[in-house]
Parts: sequence; structure tokens; C-alpha cells
Amino acid sequence: MTFQFPDSKALWGFKIFLNIIILGQAGSGKGTQAGILAKRYGLDHFDTGKLLRQVARMDGDLGREIHEIINVKKELVPSRILKEIVQLRLSDMPREQGIVFDGVPRNSEQAGYFSETLKEFGRKIDKVFFVNISGEESIRRISFRRVCKDCKKVFIMGKDIRKETDRCLDCGGEIMHRIDDTIEGIKKRLRVFEEETMPVINSYKREGILVEIDGGQTIEKVSNDVAKNIEIQ
Ligand code: AMP
Repeated sequence: MTFQFPDSKALWGFKIFLNIIILGQAGSGKGTQAGILAKRYGLDHFDTGKLLRQVARMDGDLGREIHEIINVKKELVPSRILKEIVQLRLSDMPREQGIVFDGVPRNSEQAGYFSETLKEFGRKIDKVFFVNISGEESIRRISFRRVCKDCKKVFIMGKDIRKETDRCLDCGGEIMHRIDDTIEGIKKRLRVFEEETMPVINSYKREGILVEIDGGQTIEKVSNDVAKNIEIQ
């Protein structure tokens, strides 16, 4: 299986050399926080869901397979695909580049080979953030989430945009729901999180590298809580 990352890039403006994981339920704001962390500390942002959605839009067997899993079945992609994506990204990156891993590992099997792969590349997991929100808050937030059909920028209805017919503020593209953001899709993803990702979070807690953050706060408060825990590293 060979494919190119659609937006593969190695960033060099690093300030800290940590390998950080951010996990959280759908709508927890983990992607937003990972983006802020990446900017603040010069980390590369490894956005697993975004990478998979990009590959899912590509022509070919792999694209179709991933589309079926993430958009139709709303399940986790199989390990062989994820392994390849993680390895490709790490081999593309100088060792001194810190990384924020957003949305991986999501089950115990992934956690096992994820730490092994990091080790192979001379890295280790320094810190894991769990941005925690309730199931009700997850459903509430996702029901307001919209995305630009063309540039994929995310907007919040009632905050960034006012009505369904508004256009993308960046590129003028049409605004829509993310394909997997249906109520039944969110409920399924919350179940998968509870059953498969919570055991991973609990094991990082036992290792003493987990920091739980209240994701129900404002974006700024959450990012300050994250930063405080990075700076006391
Ligand atoms: P997200 O953007 O984090 O909500 O992820 C969107 C979808 O991508 C998930 O519902 C999964 O189907 C898939 N996905 C994201 N991260 C992973 C992962 N670590 N392992 C397997 N599938 C994943």
C-alpha cells in the first residue's frame, strides 16, 4: 500500500521536543487544543481523523475502504492502515521535532504498537491529555458543528456563522455537516470511545503520564490548563 500524505510537511520551528497525545470524545475540542499547542510550542500536529478523512476522499481502493469505515460504519480504521500512517509520518520527521498526536491511540492494540513505533524512532510518550466532556455536551456541540465542503474549515453555527446558507468565511465554499456528524453517528462514536479508548486513558493514568482537563470550559481556559501542565514538565 503506498500513498502520499496530502499535506505532509515537516515543521522546523520547534521550541519543545515533547511527544504529546491528546484524547477526548467527539466535540471535546481536542483538535482545537492540539492546534493551539502546535502553534504555541512549534509542534507538528498529527491529526489522525483529518488525515483519514483526506485519504477517504481520494480515488482508489484505500480511499473507498476508509470512507466506508469512518463515514458509513462509524468505526475505527484497522490497525494495518493506522500503523502505516503513523510510520510514514514519523519517518518524514526529524527526531528533534516535537509532535502533538491528536486522536491516537484509540484502543489498547493501537496503544501497544504506537509506543513501540515511537521507540523505534527514538521517541517516547511524554504526556497524555484527556480533554473530558459529558456525552450530552458532546452531542450538543457536534450538532452545531459545520464544515466547508471545499477547504474543510470548521465553523460553529450561531457563533462563526448564522444560517445554513452562509458561505465559508475563508474560501466562500458551501457549508455542510461533516458526513459522520449525525446524531446516530455521534452516539456510536461515544460508545466506541467509552469501550475502546477509556481503557487506554486509564492505563496512561496508571503510568502517571495522564493529565485530565475539564473540556467543558472555554477554549482559552482549557488551553491554559494544558499549557500549565506542559510548562511544569
Ligand atoms: P475525529 O476527527 O477524531 O473525530 O475522527 C474521525 C474518524 O476517523 C473516527 O470516528 C474514526 O473512524 C477515524 N479515526 C480517527 N482516529 C483514529 C484512530 N486512532 N484509529 C482508528 N480510527 C480513527
